[in-house]
Amino acid sequence: MALMTGEQYEESLRKLNLKVYLMGELVKSPVDHPIIRPSMNSVKLTYALAQDPQYEDLMTATSHLTGNKINRFCHLHRSTDDLVRKVKMQRLLGQKSGACFQRCVGMDAINAVDSVTFEMDQKLGTKYHKRFNKFLLMMQEEDLTVDGAMTDPKGDRGLPPHKQADPDLFVRIAERKADGIVVRGAKAHQTGAVNSHWILVMPTMTMAKEDADYAVSFVAPADAEGISYIYGRQSCDTRKLEGSPIDVGNSQYGGHEALMVFDDVFIPWEDVFMAGEYEFSGALVERFAGYHRQSYGGCKVGVGDVLIGAAALAADYNGAMKASHIKDKLIEMMHLNETLYACGIACSAEGAKTASGNYLINMLLANVCKQNVTRFPYEIARLAEDIAGGIMVTMPSEKDLKDAKIGKVVEKYFRGVASVPTEHRMRILRLIENITLGTAAVGYRTESMHGAGSPQAQRIMISRQGNLAHKKNLAKELAGIKE
Ligand code: SF4
Ligand code: FE
Repeated sequence: MALMTGEQYEESLRKLNLKVYLMGELVKSPVDHPIIRPSMNSVKLTYALAQDPQYEDLMTATSHLTGNKINRFCHLHRSTDDLVRKVKMQRLLGQKSGACFQRCVGMDAINAVDSVTFEMDQKLGTKYHKRFNKFLLMMQEEDLTVDGAMTDPKGDRGLPPHKQADPDLFVRIAERKADGIVVRGAKAHQTGAVNSHWILVMPTMTMAKEDADYAVSFVAPADAEGISYIYGRQSCDTRKLEGSPIDVGNSQYGGHEALMVFDDVFIPWEDVFMAGEYEFSGALVERFAGYHRQSYGGCKVGVGDVLIGAAALAADYNGAMKASHIKDKLIEMMHLNETLYACGIACSAEGAKTASGNYLINMLLANVCKQNVTRFPYEIARLAEDIAGGIMVTMPSEKDLKDAKIGKVVEKYFRGVASVPTEHRMRILRLIENITLGTAAVGYRTESMHGAGSPQAQRIMISRQGNLAHKKNLAKELAGIKE
């Protein structure tokens, strides 16, 4: 089975024995929990759209291992065209879900681990790449969702891992055995963690020799003995428990993050892809981050499309669409959104082949892409709020609208243009609220800032990749300076 249907995916999650805590309670069935389910629906969409012939070009690819048709989320990019299609697929999914669909972290992780294990084996004579390919084959053939787990809790940011007061603040090898390793620690902000079948762990930063035990990469089943999850809260998340879907804004789809805890988890050697080779930790971090920075040039743009459309509808429903400043604000939003997309496409088109044969994005442009993402969605959200008006955050609930007694009053006073039902206006304003302030704002706003690395991380990469010396030489040449 190289492609699962959405239903098969949902059923496959039910078979997992995940230990998920949410608001102090162990969740019996994560798939059916009203707070978690919309995020599962988003991942389910990555399976459902792959079955649709009209999206086949974007959603599926041909495996270089088997020649079989596989979901693009399980694919290693074999060309710059593959890199471009990846971004287009992410824009499509952002448009269809209006949320984070989570599955990209695994795709970005396999692409980073592939080239790094290959190079590691060449230099050090290790045997990681073969092991990784064995895992990749299973992932592709079983159409698995894999959580690429990088970010450690990190404790005191001024101290390296081995100097922390608590040695577990970065995932580490706690014990080496003849048949494998025992790992301990946690990964924070793990996107899609409880909707995943497997986890692919990578180090969080460049490790030095003293921190070799923290230079560790491996895969584990999401429900392996010793792994548990503490589900992250999102703004307005309990609205999903109220039985008023209009108030949720986007009741069908969402995203999630969780703290993933490794409490002495045994990993057999065949599932280990790095165990102390600290010299390669930096390359793994940079490549995974680079791919995920490219990703944002697709997913955030797709959600931006929804937000721009919602803002235009809010203007229609308010009767403000003819005002020139509204038109101009919508133009500005589109300009910013397409600029993000341009960066996502550019870093893909300028990608290059790695030694292992898969394609890496242009690192400078991928970092420029993400740096723009730390800013533009905020401006797009600001303009959407400007167009929506204060009513977006002061209007009453769906229950008031549907109430036998006061419903008529809500209907009368919250109407804009006479021909548009009040309910439509409320729905679109709640959608804008959801993306800019509610559960989806995690993905569209704060994640735009910190996901795939905080702004400073990109600035460091831009300074490294920007080749200032070359630019100085260009200037000297034209200015006639000879030294
Ligand atoms: Fe994919 Fe975007 Fe979510 Fe990252 S933030 S997992 S790129 S949808
Ligand atoms: Fe992300």
